[in-house]
Amino acid sequence: MITTYTDHPLRERNSFHVEEQAARIIEFDAAADLDAIFAVGSEPKEWMVIGGGNNILFTRRFDGTLIHPVGKKITVKCEDDNTLLVEAEAGVDWDEFVRWTVERGAWGAENLSLIPGTVGAAPVQNIGAYGAEAKDIISVVHYYDTLLREHRSLTKAECRFAYRDSIFKGELRGRAIITSVEFCLGKSAKPLLHYGSLQADVEARGGVTLKNIREVVCLTRQSKLPDTNVLGNAGSFFKNPIVPCAVAEELQAKYENMPIYPTSDDAHRKLAAGWLIDQSGLKGYRTGNVGVHDRQALVLVNHGGATGGEVMALARYVQAQVKEKFGIEIEPEVNIL
Ligand SMILES: Cc1cc2nc3c(=O)[nH]c(=O)nc-3n(C[C@H](O)[C@H](O)[C@H](O)COP(=O)(O)OP(=O)(O)OC[C@H]3O[C@@H](n4cnc5c(N)ncnc54)[C@H](O)[C@@H]3O)c2cc1C
Repeated sequence: MITTYTDHPLRERNSFHVEEQAARIIEFDAAADLDAIFAVGSEPKEWMVIGGGNNILFTRRFDGTLIHPVGKKITVKCEDDNTLLVEAEAGVDWDEFVRWTVERGAWGAENLSLIPGTVGAAPVQNIGAYGAEAKDIISVVHYYDTLLREHRSLTKAECRFAYRDSIFKGELRGRAIITSVEFCLGKSAKPLLHYGSLQADVEARGGVTLKNIREVVCLTRQSKLPDTNVLGNAGSFFKNPIVPCAVAEELQAKYENMPIYPTSDDAHRKLAAGWLIDQSGLKGYRTGNVGVHDRQALVLVNHGGATGGEVMALARYVQAQVKEKFGIEIEPEVNIL
Protein backbone atom coordinates (compact mmCIF):
# COMPACT_ATOMS: atom_id res chain seq x y z
CA MET A 1 0.00 0.00 0.00
CA ILE A 2 1.20 3.52 -0.83
CA THR A 3 0.26 6.57 1.25
CA THR A 4 1.17 10.13 0.26
CA TYR A 5 1.32 13.26 2.43
CA THR A 6 1.99 16.76 1.11
CA ASP A 7 3.53 19.76 2.92
CA HIS A 8 4.05 17.53 5.91
CA PRO A 9 5.66 18.61 9.23
CA LEU A 10 8.85 16.74 10.10
CA ARG A 11 9.08 17.52 13.83
CA GLU A 12 7.94 14.03 14.83
CA ARG A 13 9.91 12.38 12.04
CA ASN A 14 13.39 13.46 13.16
CA SER A 15 15.00 12.74 16.52
CA PHE A 16 16.41 16.30 16.78
CA HIS A 17 12.75 17.43 16.63
CA VAL A 18 13.60 20.44 14.50
CA GLU A 19 10.57 22.13 12.91
CA GLU A 20 10.93 21.67 9.17
CA GLN A 21 8.58 20.46 6.45
CA ALA A 22 8.75 18.08 3.51
CA ALA A 23 6.97 18.92 0.26
CA ARG A 24 5.93 15.26 -0.02
CA ILE A 25 6.25 12.02 1.93
CA ILE A 26 5.44 8.68 0.31
CA GLU A 27 5.06 5.68 2.59
CA PHE A 28 5.28 2.25 1.00
CA ASP A 29 4.55 -1.16 2.46
CA ALA A 30 5.78 -3.77 -0.03
CA ALA A 31 8.96 -3.68 -2.14
CA ALA A 32 6.80 -4.01 -5.27
CA ASP A 33 5.15 -0.63 -4.48
CA LEU A 34 8.41 1.01 -5.59
CA ASP A 35 7.77 -0.08 -9.19
CA ALA A 36 4.68 2.13 -9.18
CA ILE A 37 6.34 5.01 -7.30
CA PHE A 38 9.27 5.09 -9.74
CA ALA A 39 7.26 4.33 -12.90
CA VAL A 40 8.59 6.25 -15.90
CA GLY A 41 7.07 9.72 -16.01
CA SER A 42 5.76 9.79 -12.43
CA GLU A 43 9.01 9.21 -10.53
CA PRO A 44 9.97 11.80 -7.91
CA LYS A 45 12.76 14.11 -9.08
CA GLU A 46 14.45 14.98 -5.79
CA TRP A 47 14.00 12.26 -3.20
CA MET A 48 15.63 10.52 -0.29
CA VAL A 49 14.73 7.71 2.08
CA ILE A 50 13.78 8.41 5.66
CA GLY A 51 13.45 5.68 8.25
CA GLY A 52 13.01 6.81 11.85
CA GLY A 53 14.91 10.07 11.21
CA ASN A 54 17.41 9.28 14.00
CA ASN A 55 20.47 10.11 11.93
CA ILE A 56 19.26 13.09 9.90
CA LEU A 57 19.48 16.81 10.63
CA PHE A 58 17.10 18.93 8.56
CA THR A 59 18.50 22.43 8.11
CA ARG A 60 15.83 23.52 5.61
CA ARG A 61 12.46 22.58 4.17
CA PHE A 62 12.85 19.44 2.07
CA ASP A 63 11.38 20.40 -1.30
CA GLY A 64 11.47 16.89 -2.74
CA THR A 65 9.92 13.57 -1.70
CA LEU A 66 10.84 11.58 1.38
CA ILE A 67 10.36 7.86 0.76
CA HIS A 68 9.44 6.03 3.97
CA PRO A 69 9.30 2.21 4.19
CA VAL A 70 6.64 0.92 6.59
CA GLY A 71 6.73 -2.85 5.86
CA LYS A 72 7.23 -4.66 9.18
CA LYS A 73 7.33 -8.36 8.33
CA ILE A 74 9.94 -10.66 9.91
CA THR A 75 10.24 -14.01 8.12
CA VAL A 76 12.27 -17.02 9.22
CA LYS A 77 13.99 -18.38 6.10
CA CYS A 78 15.78 -21.31 7.66
CA GLU A 79 16.42 -22.55 11.19
CA ASP A 80 18.38 -25.46 12.59
CA ASP A 81 20.31 -26.21 15.80
CA ASN A 82 23.20 -23.95 14.76
CA THR A 83 21.79 -21.11 12.71
CA LEU A 84 18.78 -18.87 12.23
CA LEU A 85 18.40 -17.15 8.86
CA VAL A 86 15.83 -14.40 9.03
CA GLU A 87 14.63 -11.63 6.69
CA ALA A 88 13.25 -8.39 8.10
CA GLU A 89 11.54 -5.68 6.08
CA ALA A 90 13.03 -2.18 6.05
CA GLY A 91 10.28 -0.65 8.20
CA VAL A 92 10.82 -2.99 11.17
CA ASP A 93 11.94 -1.05 14.25
CA TRP A 94 15.56 -2.04 14.86
CA ASP A 95 15.19 -2.63 18.58
CA GLU A 96 11.99 -4.66 18.03
CA PHE A 97 14.06 -6.85 15.72
CA VAL A 98 16.81 -7.26 18.34
CA ARG A 99 14.18 -8.11 20.99
CA TRP A 100 12.70 -10.71 18.61
CA THR A 101 16.14 -12.37 18.08
CA VAL A 102 16.85 -12.47 21.81
CA GLU A 103 13.45 -14.00 22.58
CA ARG A 104 14.13 -16.62 19.92
CA GLY A 105 17.50 -17.53 21.48
CA ALA A 106 19.52 -16.30 18.49
CA TRP A 107 22.95 -14.70 19.10
CA GLY A 108 24.51 -11.77 17.29
CA ALA A 109 22.23 -8.73 17.60
CA GLU A 110 22.08 -8.36 21.40
CA ASN A 111 24.94 -5.81 21.71
CA LEU A 112 23.06 -3.61 19.22
CA SER A 113 20.03 -3.33 21.52
CA LEU A 114 18.21 -0.01 21.74
CA ILE A 115 19.92 1.66 18.77
CA PRO A 116 17.07 3.84 17.51
CA GLY A 117 15.96 3.43 13.90
CA THR A 118 14.77 0.93 11.36
CA VAL A 119 16.16 -2.29 9.91
CA GLY A 120 16.40 -0.62 6.48
CA ALA A 121 18.82 2.02 7.81
CA ALA A 122 21.05 -0.43 9.70
CA PRO A 123 23.24 -1.42 6.70
CA VAL A 124 23.57 2.19 5.49
CA GLN A 125 26.03 3.27 8.15
CA ASN A 126 26.72 -0.27 9.41
CA ILE A 127 25.38 0.57 12.86
CA GLY A 128 27.57 -0.45 15.72
CA ALA A 129 27.81 -0.46 19.50
CA TYR A 130 29.50 -2.34 22.34
CA GLY A 131 32.05 -4.00 20.05
CA ALA A 132 29.47 -5.30 17.53
CA GLU A 133 28.44 -4.05 14.10
CA ALA A 134 25.45 -4.81 11.88
CA LYS A 135 27.84 -6.27 9.28
CA ASP A 136 28.65 -9.12 11.71
CA ILE A 137 25.14 -10.54 11.22
CA ILE A 138 23.97 -9.20 7.84
CA SER A 139 24.11 -11.78 5.04
CA VAL A 140 22.15 -10.14 2.19
CA VAL A 141 20.65 -6.69 1.58
CA HIS A 142 17.70 -6.40 -0.82
CA TYR A 143 17.11 -3.02 -2.45
CA TYR A 144 15.36 -1.25 -5.27
CA ASP A 145 17.71 0.39 -7.74
CA THR A 146 15.94 3.57 -8.85
CA LEU A 147 18.32 4.10 -11.76
CA LEU A 148 17.84 0.64 -13.27
CA ARG A 149 14.24 0.35 -11.99
CA GLU A 150 15.12 -3.13 -10.74
CA HIS A 151 14.96 -5.06 -7.49
CA ARG A 152 18.49 -6.21 -6.63
CA SER A 153 20.42 -7.89 -3.81
CA LEU A 154 23.94 -7.56 -2.45
CA THR A 155 25.85 -10.04 -0.35
CA LYS A 156 27.65 -8.87 2.77
CA ALA A 157 30.97 -8.65 0.89
CA GLU A 158 29.38 -6.61 -1.90
CA CYS A 159 28.01 -4.10 0.64
CA ARG A 160 31.61 -2.93 1.35
CA PHE A 161 30.95 -2.45 5.02
CA ALA A 162 33.44 -0.42 7.03
CA TYR A 163 33.32 1.71 10.18
CA ARG A 164 29.97 3.61 9.90
CA ASP A 165 30.12 3.11 6.16
CA SER A 166 28.86 0.98 3.29
CA ILE A 167 28.21 1.08 -0.43
CA PHE A 168 24.86 2.71 0.41
CA LYS A 169 26.72 5.83 1.59
CA GLY A 170 28.99 5.71 -1.48
CA GLU A 171 28.26 4.41 -4.95
CA LEU A 172 24.58 3.64 -4.26
CA ARG A 173 23.80 6.83 -2.36
CA GLY A 174 20.71 8.51 -3.80
CA ARG A 175 20.01 5.42 -5.90
CA ALA A 176 19.19 2.46 -3.62
CA ILE A 177 16.15 2.01 -1.43
CA ILE A 178 16.70 -0.88 0.96
CA THR A 179 13.55 -2.97 1.17
CA SER A 180 14.65 -5.82 3.44
CA VAL A 181 17.72 -7.30 5.10
CA GLU A 182 18.66 -10.94 5.70
CA PHE A 183 20.51 -11.80 8.89
CA CYS A 184 22.43 -14.93 9.87
CA LEU A 185 22.34 -15.48 13.65
CA GLY A 186 23.95 -18.19 15.77
CA LYS A 187 22.05 -20.62 17.99
CA SER A 188 24.94 -21.30 20.35
CA ALA A 189 26.31 -18.78 22.85
CA LYS A 190 28.77 -16.31 21.31
CA PRO A 191 28.96 -13.47 23.82
CA LEU A 192 30.91 -10.35 22.88
CA LEU A 193 31.73 -8.77 26.22
CA HIS A 194 35.12 -7.10 25.83
CA TYR A 195 33.68 -3.58 25.60
CA GLY A 196 33.90 -1.42 28.76
CA SER A 197 32.41 -3.02 31.85
CA LEU A 198 29.99 -5.23 29.90
CA GLN A 199 31.48 -8.52 31.16
CA ALA A 200 31.37 -7.47 34.84
CA ASP A 201 27.89 -5.92 34.52
CA VAL A 202 26.46 -9.02 32.85
CA GLU A 203 27.98 -11.30 35.49
CA ALA A 204 26.60 -9.05 38.24
CA ARG A 205 23.17 -9.47 36.67
CA GLY A 206 23.31 -13.24 37.10
CA GLY A 207 25.49 -14.58 34.29
CA VAL A 208 26.10 -14.58 30.58
CA THR A 209 22.72 -15.02 28.91
CA LEU A 210 21.25 -13.29 25.89
CA LYS A 211 18.58 -11.69 28.08
CA ASN A 212 21.13 -10.34 30.58
CA ILE A 213 23.37 -8.93 27.85
CA ARG A 214 20.41 -7.15 26.24
CA GLU A 215 19.25 -5.79 29.59
CA VAL A 216 22.72 -4.50 30.53
CA VAL A 217 23.19 -2.85 27.12
CA CYS A 218 19.74 -1.20 27.37
CA LEU A 219 20.35 0.04 30.94
CA THR A 220 23.83 1.35 30.08
CA ARG A 221 22.56 3.18 27.01
CA GLN A 222 19.63 4.66 28.95
CA SER A 223 22.01 5.93 31.65
CA LYS A 224 24.43 7.51 29.18
CA LEU A 225 22.36 8.82 26.30
CA PRO A 226 19.60 11.44 26.46
CA ASP A 227 16.08 10.27 25.56
CA THR A 228 15.28 11.83 22.17
CA ASN A 229 11.67 12.43 23.31
CA VAL A 230 12.94 14.62 26.15
CA LEU A 231 16.02 16.20 24.56
CA GLY A 232 16.20 16.13 20.75
CA ASN A 233 19.45 14.59 19.48
CA ALA A 234 20.79 12.14 16.92
CA GLY A 235 23.14 10.12 19.13
CA SER A 236 26.81 10.56 18.25
CA PHE A 237 26.95 13.66 16.09
CA PHE A 238 30.55 13.03 14.98
CA LYS A 239 32.44 9.94 13.83
CA ASN A 240 35.49 8.82 15.78
CA PRO A 241 38.40 10.09 13.65
CA ILE A 242 40.73 7.52 12.08
CA VAL A 243 44.30 8.81 11.91
CA PRO A 244 47.73 7.46 10.89
CA CYS A 245 49.51 5.64 13.77
CA ALA A 246 52.21 8.32 13.93
CA VAL A 247 49.61 11.04 14.59
CA ALA A 248 47.93 8.94 17.31
CA GLU A 249 51.27 8.21 19.00
CA GLU A 250 52.34 11.85 18.88
CA LEU A 251 49.09 12.90 20.53
CA GLN A 252 49.27 10.15 23.13
CA ALA A 253 52.79 11.26 24.10
CA LYS A 254 51.31 14.68 24.83
CA TYR A 255 48.00 13.52 26.35
CA GLU A 256 48.75 10.36 28.35
CA ASN A 257 45.12 9.48 29.07
CA MET A 258 43.97 9.82 25.49
CA PRO A 259 42.08 6.69 24.42
CA ILE A 260 43.29 5.03 21.20
CA TYR A 261 41.61 2.07 19.52
CA PRO A 262 42.87 -0.34 16.85
CA THR A 263 41.35 -0.29 13.36
CA SER A 264 41.07 -3.00 10.73
CA ASP A 265 44.46 -1.96 9.32
CA ASP A 266 47.79 -1.65 11.13
CA ALA A 267 48.63 1.77 9.73
CA HIS A 268 45.75 3.62 11.40
CA ARG A 269 44.23 4.15 14.85
CA LYS A 270 40.80 5.35 15.94
CA LEU A 271 40.53 8.27 18.38
CA ALA A 272 37.52 8.96 20.60
CA ALA A 273 35.75 12.08 19.26
CA GLY A 274 33.82 12.40 22.55
CA TRP A 275 37.09 12.56 24.51
CA LEU A 276 38.51 15.20 22.14
CA ILE A 277 35.37 17.33 22.53
CA ASP A 278 35.34 16.86 26.30
CA GLN A 279 39.03 17.83 26.57
CA SER A 280 38.31 20.92 24.46
CA GLY A 281 36.18 22.04 27.42
CA LEU A 282 32.86 21.65 25.61
CA LYS A 283 30.99 18.98 27.63
CA GLY A 284 27.80 20.68 28.85
CA TYR A 285 28.46 23.79 26.71
CA ARG A 286 25.25 25.59 25.77
CA THR A 287 24.48 28.39 23.35
CA GLY A 288 20.88 29.50 22.79
CA ASN A 289 18.65 26.49 22.15
CA VAL A 290 21.45 24.01 21.46
CA GLY A 291 24.29 22.44 23.40
CA VAL A 292 26.76 19.63 23.96
CA HIS A 293 25.27 16.99 26.24
CA ASP A 294 26.58 17.17 29.79
CA ARG A 295 27.15 13.40 30.14
CA GLN A 296 28.19 12.48 26.60
CA ALA A 297 30.20 15.12 24.71
CA LEU A 298 29.68 13.36 21.39
CA VAL A 299 25.97 14.18 21.48
CA LEU A 300 24.65 17.58 20.40
CA VAL A 301 21.22 18.38 21.79
CA ASN A 302 18.21 20.55 21.03
CA HIS A 303 17.20 22.12 24.35
CA GLY A 304 13.90 23.10 22.75
CA GLY A 305 12.87 25.12 19.71
CA ALA A 306 16.24 24.88 17.92
CA THR A 307 16.50 25.08 14.15
CA GLY A 308 18.74 22.75 12.17
CA GLY A 309 20.86 25.80 11.35
CA GLU A 310 21.55 26.39 15.06
CA VAL A 311 22.63 22.78 15.51
CA MET A 312 24.95 23.11 12.50
CA ALA A 313 26.47 26.34 13.85
CA LEU A 314 27.25 24.52 17.11
CA ALA A 315 28.69 21.55 15.18
CA ARG A 316 31.04 23.88 13.28
CA TYR A 317 32.11 25.54 16.54
CA VAL A 318 32.87 22.14 18.11
CA GLN A 319 34.85 21.09 15.01
CA ALA A 320 36.87 24.33 15.13
CA GLN A 321 37.67 23.96 18.85
CA VAL A 322 38.85 20.36 18.45
CA LYS A 323 40.92 21.31 15.40
CA GLU A 324 42.53 24.17 17.27
CA LYS A 325 43.44 22.08 20.34
CA PHE A 326 44.39 18.75 18.74
CA GLY A 327 44.84 19.51 15.03
CA ILE A 328 42.26 16.78 14.30
CA GLU A 329 39.28 17.15 11.93
CA ILE A 330 36.11 15.52 13.22
CA GLU A 331 33.44 14.74 10.64
CA PRO A 332 29.67 14.51 11.23
CA GLU A 333 28.20 11.02 11.41
CA VAL A 334 24.73 12.54 11.05
CA ASN A 335 23.29 13.13 7.56
CA ILE A 336 22.88 16.87 7.06
CA LEU A 337 20.13 18.08 4.74
C1 LIG B 1 19.98 8.45 20.92
C2 LIG B 1 20.65 7.86 19.70
C3 LIG B 1 21.63 6.89 19.86
C4 LIG B 1 22.26 6.34 18.75
N1 LIG B 1 23.19 5.38 18.94
C5 LIG B 1 23.81 4.81 17.87
C6 LIG B 1 24.77 3.76 18.05
O1 LIG B 1 25.06 3.35 19.17
N2 LIG B 1 25.36 3.24 16.94
C7 LIG B 1 25.05 3.66 15.68
O2 LIG B 1 25.63 3.13 14.73
N3 LIG B 1 24.13 4.63 15.48
C8 LIG B 1 23.51 5.21 16.53
N4 LIG B 1 22.58 6.21 16.35
C9 LIG B 1 22.26 6.64 14.98
C10 LIG B 1 21.00 5.95 14.41
O3 LIG B 1 20.33 5.24 15.41
C11 LIG B 1 21.36 4.99 13.27
O4 LIG B 1 22.02 5.68 12.24
C12 LIG B 1 20.10 4.34 12.68
O5 LIG B 1 20.46 3.36 11.75
C13 LIG B 1 19.17 5.35 12.04
O6 LIG B 1 18.01 4.69 11.64
P1 LIG B 1 16.80 5.51 11.05
O7 LIG B 1 15.78 4.54 10.58
O8 LIG B 1 16.33 6.52 12.02
O9 LIG B 1 17.49 6.21 9.78
P2 LIG B 1 17.30 7.69 9.25
O10 LIG B 1 17.86 8.65 10.23
O11 LIG B 1 15.90 7.90 8.82
O12 LIG B 1 18.23 7.64 7.95
C14 LIG B 1 19.63 7.59 8.09
C15 LIG B 1 20.27 7.47 6.69
O13 LIG B 1 19.96 6.22 6.14
C16 LIG B 1 19.22 6.38 4.91
N5 LIG B 1 18.19 5.34 4.92
C17 LIG B 1 17.31 5.09 5.93
N6 LIG B 1 16.53 4.05 5.58
C18 LIG B 1 16.94 3.64 4.36
C19 LIG B 1 16.51 2.62 3.45
N7 LIG B 1 15.50 1.79 3.74
N8 LIG B 1 17.15 2.52 2.25
C20 LIG B 1 18.18 3.35 1.92
N9 LIG B 1 18.61 4.33 2.73
C21 LIG B 1 18.00 4.47 3.93
C22 LIG B 1 18.65 7.78 4.97
O14 LIG B 1 18.44 8.28 3.66
C23 LIG B 1 19.76 8.52 5.71
O15 LIG B 1 20.79 8.84 4.81
C24 LIG B 1 21.91 6.78 17.45
C25 LIG B 1 20.92 7.75 17.28
C26 LIG B 1 20.28 8.29 18.40
C27 LIG B 1 19.21 9.31 18.22
